[in-house]
Amino acid sequence: MKQIQTAAELTSAVSAARESGKEIGLVPTMGALHEGHLSLIERAMQENDLVVVSLFVNPIQFNNKEDLEKYPRTIEADLELIKNLELRIKNSCTDNLLAFTPTVAEMYPDGMPTEVYRFGPVEEVMEGPRRPGHFSGVAVVVRRLFDLSQPTRAYFGEKDYQQIAVIRALLTQIKYPIELVPCPIVRADDGLALSSRNMRLSSAARQMAPAINATLEQAAEMAEYEDVDDVKEWVLDTLASWHEVNNCPDGLKFEPEYFEIVDAITLQPIAGWDEAAANGAVGCIAVWLDGVRLIDIVKF
Ligand code: AMP
Repeated sequence: MKQIQTAAELTSAVSAARESGKEIGLVPTMGALHEGHLSLIERAMQENDLVVVSLFVNPIQFNNKEDLEKYPRTIEADLELIKNLELRIKNSCTDNLLAFTPTVAEMYPDGMPTEVYRFGPVEEVMEGPRRPGHFSGVAVVVRRLFDLSQPTRAYFGEKDYQQIAVIRALLTQIKYPIELVPCPIVRADDGLALSSRNMRLSSAARQMAPAINATLEQAAEMAEYEDVDDVKEWVLDTLASWHEVNNCPDGLKFEPEYFEIVDAITLQPIAGWDEAAANGAVGCIAVWLDGVRLIDIVKF
């Protein structure tokens, strides 16, 4: 692994690789790496000759200042994790790995970008209206990373399900011939989707959190015989009343922000299972626990 801090170094490294016909995989991250991120990096290393992992906390995708300030920054530990991954999988994958760790000034040399992206229906649901400007900020940084690293493929986790739909729309808009590779969610043994936000949970809340995935898994079973609206209502009610049913300590409780059952590609809410017959249906949830906003999905 080689750490690169400047845009100029990155473009010169990838241009040389491109010219010699190499395939490049890009894995954009905001650091605070865990096994979920590492699964994307490993897959990219299996499928490409050169892999660029970016570690950059992108200020313009945070619509909440406090969230940006609280975002964990663990660059040294992140680089260690990447090096350990390389050791773990060496021989079976490319060892040509660049960790791109730019400063804000390096990413945005002309100052904070003011360009705004719009993606229509895929961003008008779920996270979109609740996090104004978020997806536009994501699109700005991802496009810049595309420009700098000229990837053949770009890897994104299904944990941020709506983000994948937005990047798909971005690629259509900007017409870059990049293959978008969605990767499955990596979970803790108890089912909680790994997230850098999990470390903010108290230990009591961390013990409760797997109920999110457990509820979604049960919902997937219910979908075999219940209507969409009934499954939706059941998930929201089950989580909202979880603390009462389970006698939770310290006023801890789940506060669901939304649970939507949507078409897997268009992300439009469906009223009946047959509406998603072509693309499949996905349930997407955002739920507050212990002051932390957790998101997860289930495929139906
Ligand atoms: P982040 O650093 O949180 O922006 O995440 C960087 C990439 O890792 C995004 O494409 C995420 O969807 C993906 N990711 C985060 N958590 C997981 C997980 N538990 N499993 C798989 N991918 C993940």
